[in-house]
Amino acid sequence: MKITLGDILSGKVRIVYRRRRRKLPETPEVQELRKAAKACLPGRLRELAALHGFSVGAVRIKHNVSNWGSCSSKGNINLNLNLMRLPEDLRDYVMLHELCHLRYMNHGPEFHALLESLCPNHKELRQRLKEYKLI
Ligand SMILES: [Zn+2]
Repeated sequence: MKITLGDILSGKVRIVYRRRRRKLPETPEVQELRKAAKACLPGRLRELAALHGFSVGAVRIKHNVSNWGSCSSKGNINLNLNLMRLPEDLRDYVMLHELCHLRYMNHGPEFHALLESLCPNHKELRQRLKEYKLI
């Protein structure tokens, strides 16, 4: 199909700019974090899941500067390798937060009630987490 300037100006054809995902540099520090994260995080997540009766799908280690972790509707959990830079209680807090998303895919009252029951000091932990920046 040949697109003319007229098609674009008339709105018949729309140009969509897709931002290319910026790949974060794999510095030696990131490599170390990734290695440690792979050795530590999936095991701990599954331990917490078993303790609280969650069933988790795949667990993957990710590197991005937008979230500490994420949960898909298919029950898979992604964990940011930056979690290795956190003290253990904050690391667990992030994992418990993601596990709660296996039951509630939002941040509504039921989600918070569940998180509260698993992690009573979650508000304090959330505040402390803000002191850390994703790299
Ligand atoms: Zn969340």
